[in-house]
Amino acid sequence: MRFLLLIFLLSFSLFKSQECYDLKTVLKVEPTELYKPHLLASQNFGVKILQNTKTVDKNIANGKFVKVKKKSRGYRLQTLEYSRPYLVKKARTTLERMANDFAAKTKSFFVVSSVTRTLEDQCRLRKVNSNASLGISSHNYGAAFDISYVRFDHKLKVNPKLEKELEKVLTEYKNLGKIFYIKEKQQSCYHVTVRNY
Ligand SMILES: [Zn+2]
Repeated sequence: MRFLLLIFLLSFSLFKSQECYDLKTVLKVEPTELYKPHLLASQNFGVKILQNTKTVDKNIANGKFVKVKKKSRGYRLQTLEYSRPYLVKKARTTLERMANDFAAKTKSFFVVSSVTRTLEDQCRLRKVNSNASLGISSHNYGAAFDISYVRFDHKLKVNPKLEKELEKVLTEYKNLGKIFYIKEKQQSCYHVTVRNY
């Protein structure tokens, strides 16, 4: 019996130590010039890189992370498969304000397609999307989210008019020093990182 227990414990610890990523390798991947400001901004909130559910829970417990509402004026949250609906407070407020500004101009809403990802989530994502970053991402610090530009009002189609209005809002917040954003054509989204302004 004791022997069986030993085997069980051994295999459990072996299983536990098998991460799907190697933190040292992940941290060593050099970000692109375009992406560097995103990473630096996301690291400015004093959140340590999110490795797994436990680290997310810690940030919820200590009040750093707040839950992103499923909907608010101007946005809807998509069902999240590879990310979690939590952000640092300032990022959530900024999302809500941008969405509100967007709704005021358009009477429409945009769709948030991805929020906070742990390194483990990123491994799962990489299995289905080989474009998912190998290195760290601003999603790994709870300060970034993606806005789809092909799903306004939950209609899956290109809408140049609404896309332009969304980009206007993004540019305005960028010029105010509140966010950085990149248009990601492969994912049909705007990747938005909130700065600690
Ligand atoms: Zn993104």
